[in-house]
Amino acid sequence: MRQTLPLPRRRPNWVGKTTPEPESPDASLTADDSFTATSSAGLTYPWGDFVPGAGQLHPIADGISWARIPMPGSLGHINSWLLDDEDAVGPGFAVVDSGMLLRECSDAWKALFAGDLGQSRVTRVVGTHLHPDHIGLAGWLCKKYDAALWMTRGEWLTARMLIADVRDEAPDAYLKMQRAAGWDDATITEMAGQGWGRFARMVFEMPVSYRRLQDGETLHMGKHRWQVVVGSGHSPEHACLLNAQSGVLVSGDQVLPRISSNVSVNLSEPESDPLGDWLSSIDKLLHLPDDLLVCPAHGEPFTGLHTRLIALRDEHHRRLDDVHTALGRAPLRAVDCFPLLFNRAIGGHNRDLATGEATAHLNRLLVDGRARRETVDGVHWFHAA
Ligand SMILES: [Zn+2]
Repeated sequence: MRQTLPLPRRRPNWVGKTTPEPESPDASLTADDSFTATSSAGLTYPWGDFVPGAGQLHPIADGISWARIPMPGSLGHINSWLLDDEDAVGPGFAVVDSGMLLRECSDAWKALFAGDLGQSRVTRVVGTHLHPDHIGLAGWLCKKYDAALWMTRGEWLTARMLIADVRDEAPDAYLKMQRAAGWDDATITEMAGQGWGRFARMVFEMPVSYRRLQDGETLHMGKHRWQVVVGSGHSPEHACLLNAQSGVLVSGDQVLPRISSNVSVNLSEPESDPLGDWLSSIDKLLHLPDDLLVCPAHGEPFTGLHTRLIALRDEHHRRLDDVHTALGRAPLRAVDCFPLLFNRAIGGHNRDLATGEATAHLNRLLVDGRARRETVDGVHWFHAA
């Protein structure tokens, strides 16, 4: 049932102003771009440069339509995929990913309500993973349509944990982790002054209950069957949706055509090996058919799944080899690895993501037995092993 649309409750601090503040925390939460040049050669974009306009739902295959939600920051948008989901009540759509809790995103949805979505309803809201550009407006849409939120348990619990973790000051463990990565005193002081709890500000209040998605299960949506395919590394338990009949994979951030997804070690699990998870997920996804139409969260729908996965895998291995070679010349901290890994300047809003991704590469080498770690005055120095 459609309800009157309430305004998002928690508003980012720049709502009401004409433009986002340049150093607003929003960009750092659009954690999908690893700042790494990647090859997207060999892919085919059946729709070329076309993107759906405001208020427009563009059918792209049997059972799936495409909407584009604009966002600030380097990504500039997120794709929302609407899956045909006819039930006993009548026709409707399952919305996959929704944009951030930003006026720019909610305005895009209002244009859709007034446009191509106007005669229809949302039956359920699916979050591929916990990042705010994907679930920021999920709770808002659930509330408007009295729809359930569907996520994997790992993504749901992590999102709930981060939303609950609002405090005035950054935890000591976070500052200690940044020091271990090699940041200097001045930067640590700046980090300490940034406060904590940005995640909660970018996500509309989520429903207190959810529907769990599990790897391998099949969702029945009208006459369509969508199989859940879980990956990891960019986030703990990322759900992709596969429609074998239509030949479509909704890939979220697990496979992106033009950028490499950020793979970061986070504060909640500093000794983790997300890059190991990411590479294993690539091997898993290589078992899917190569001729699927891939519908990513960022960029345009494409074919060439295997080409893209192999390019991503090879580029990560090359960067691991580069870091390993450099460790053979001199011990390095995470911050020393930036020039080896990234093709752009690191600082300000991309500092955390870059630190997390550099640490992910070092932890991978550590777990793989190609590096050893020595801690001197709280700073982690990595040596070749
Ligand atoms: Zn993401």
